[in-house]
Amino acid sequence: MHNKTIAVLGAGYGGITAALRLARLLKKMPQYRIYLIDRNPFHTFKTQLHEAAVRNVEVSVPVQNIIRKTSIVFIQDSIREINTAKSKIILSDSEIGYEYLVIALGSITNYYNIPGLQEYSLSLQSLEDANAIYEHINGVCEEALLSTREDIRQDMLRFVIGGGGLTGVELAGELADLLNKKAEIASAGFQILLIEGGSRLVPNLDERMSEEVSQRLQGKGVKIITNCRIVKRTIDAIALSNGDILKAYTLVWTGGIKAGSIIESSGLTTGQMGRIIVNEFLQAEGHPFVYALGDNALAINPTTGNPVPAAAQFALQQGRLVAGNIYADICGRDKRPYKPKVLGEIVSLGRHLAVGWLAVPFFKKVRFFGFIASLLKTAIEDKHILLLKKESRNWIDWRG
Ligand SMILES: Cc1cc2nc3c(=O)[nH]c(=O)nc-3n(C[C@H](O)[C@H](O)[C@H](O)COP(=O)(O)OP(=O)(O)OC[C@H]3O[C@@H](n4cnc5c(N)ncnc54)[C@H](O)[C@@H]3O)c2cc1C
Repeated sequence: MHNKTIAVLGAGYGGITAALRLARLLKKMPQYRIYLIDRNPFHTFKTQLHEAAVRNVEVSVPVQNIIRKTSIVFIQDSIREINTAKSKIILSDSEIGYEYLVIALGSITNYYNIPGLQEYSLSLQSLEDANAIYEHINGVCEEALLSTREDIRQDMLRFVIGGGGLTGVELAGELADLLNKKAEIASAGFQILLIEGGSRLVPNLDERMSEEVSQRLQGKGVKIITNCRIVKRTIDAIALSNGDILKAYTLVWTGGIKAGSIIESSGLTTGQMGRIIVNEFLQAEGHPFVYALGDNALAINPTTGNPVPAAAQFALQQGRLVAGNIYADICGRDKRPYKPKVLGEIVSLGRHLAVGWLAVPFFKKVRFFGFIASLLKTAIEDKHILLLKKESRNWIDWRG
């Protein structure tokens, strides 16, 4: 009965949304089989990874809980290759042919070939990364308290974050809360340094909000160094572009992302950050049956002419649109062009503190600071779960 395959690569924000919506739209067309493929058996709430890295909170849900009672076939495996010339996907020890392909594999860390950076730093792009940071921070704190040498203790308690974008800033806020709360660590004296190559933190935000982010972080004891780049990392030191050498056991690199090498070798045309160049319907250039979305797609905002940023809100919107467009194509109807809805941006700076703005009807852009902003951030995250529940319709609440 199934003789046509739609392969959705990646069960993150965009991929799982696309797969769920496709399953609903194609309910009466059993000849289409939807494969959803991810290396992990769970969907990660990636926008909360900094919380998992510092507080070890639950930020994932089993994919099976979300897709149960749908027709989606979930394959837990690593995708090794996308062969668009032969319309097939190569997995660890099998391959899958497809009629339609949806690429939603997210980003990996970009180390920009900075010497030693990949070898001697932690990153924050996956749950595995978050767990590694959590273990590392706890381990280094314990060791520092046991050390009898003041200089070594100080180096151990110097936490450096490279990159003052959203991820770096959110991690710095969480980490400051944690270390300030650990009485022994606070009295031993710790340092959190946030190093940013540009002139201000979170450049996506306007200057006023960016300044607010800096002030709030400094209020928590985070030292911010702007206009400065990391140029080399060794096992226990960091060389900066201003000539300084920082001794530090911990460097979390949050300074850049790019698409993985699978995308590069897929035969698709890529642009900035290795993202796939797509048309207004999110079809890969020259490949009408291949769609890309989320961090993998270099979608252009038709209003501004600029690339749509790599953000969860856009991955979710694009997941819904791609499903609709594949369905339209199957039914011989017109596809819809992508017009991003910018809903706002809220940056969390630890528990109960955030800074950001939301698009509110009539006022356009309303700024929020402090506790209210943190409530809104939580509401946005809850909304994602609600939307997934709505798409899934048969969700089992994994938190019990
Ligand atoms: C700490 C942090 C905080 C963030 N905060 C925000 C925020 O507040 N707001 C916001 O809008 N955005 C935020 N982002 C960005 C946002 O998380 C991403 O833009 C979003 O996750 C992109 O969604 P996606 O569907 O493209 O990919 P992802 O959600 O990254 O999903 C990709 C999936 O592909 C799978 N995968 C990748 N490679 C393979 C392979 N080879 N084989 C099998 N499976 C594979 C992965 O396991 C993953 O499940 C944050 C990111 C981080 C890291």
